[in-house]
Amino acid sequence: MKSTGRMVIIVLAITMMFTSLVGCGKQATQTTQTTQPTAKNYVIYSDNSFAPFEYYDSATSKYVGLDMDILAAIAADQKITYEIKNEGFDASMGAVQSGQADAMIAGMTITDKRKATFDFSDGYFQDGQIMMVGANSNIKSLEDLKGSVVAVKTSTQGAEYAKGVAGKYGFTLQYYEDSPTMYTAVTNGTNAAGFEDFSVIGWAIKHQSLKIKTVGEVINPGSYGFAVKKGSNAELIQKFNAGLANIKANGKYKEILTKYGY
Ligand code: GLN
Repeated sequence: MKSTGRMVIIVLAITMMFTSLVGCGKQATQTTQTTQPTAKNYVIYSDNSFAPFEYYDSATSKYVGLDMDILAAIAADQKITYEIKNEGFDASMGAVQSGQADAMIAGMTITDKRKATFDFSDGYFQDGQIMMVGANSNIKSLEDLKGSVVAVKTSTQGAEYAKGVAGKYGFTLQYYEDSPTMYTAVTNGTNAAGFEDFSVIGWAIKHQSLKIKTVGEVINPGSYGFAVKKGSNAELIQKFNAGLANIKANGKYKEILTKYGY
């Protein structure tokens, strides 16, 4: 009985030593992990129907486009992992501001006003807005819009411009959440005209045989940028810029532009 008791004590002592050793081992492993944190999986929002920048491809059941390709190329170059959510333009701006999204890429024009609440990457594409009317419309200038209702897309530069000149030219605005709904309002006569980014309406006229024509010159040409909430995700902007410079240098950026006809 005595020896059995001693045995139990010895076994217990060995077990305790072993447990503490394993414990040490675990702690050491944990410390190593803390010094090398796993890479962040960024949540990036985008528009949902803004070809050629982002649009749903029914053949592949995926969102494709210039923005999608540029982001993928930069992410590969910078070893960034991300999840893309094509929720619409206004929704993307809201998601970035609320912290639900780390960033957005959505054919978003870099403006001084937006710089108050967003930090932008370097510009990656040049575009401005243009007035659009139905293919058979007689409207030739802003003066012809007197007394009419004009289609704009919520939170866009097209809406911002139209709001700025609506009083002067005597028209009112009707807001839409996405570009295709806005085009329909113009083609079916609900609205006399609309404002859209030049490349985007140009693409829709060419590739979707949209019964719309553009009027006048391109308004407020500027650069599209990748955006984060002001003061957040600075490392992501740095990586986007570094990746953009690399894909410009290695020909990948040019290849993507060519793919979409630029
Ligand atoms: N470039 C325009 C803007 O920044 C439109 C963007 C969009 O509709 N996705 O407001």
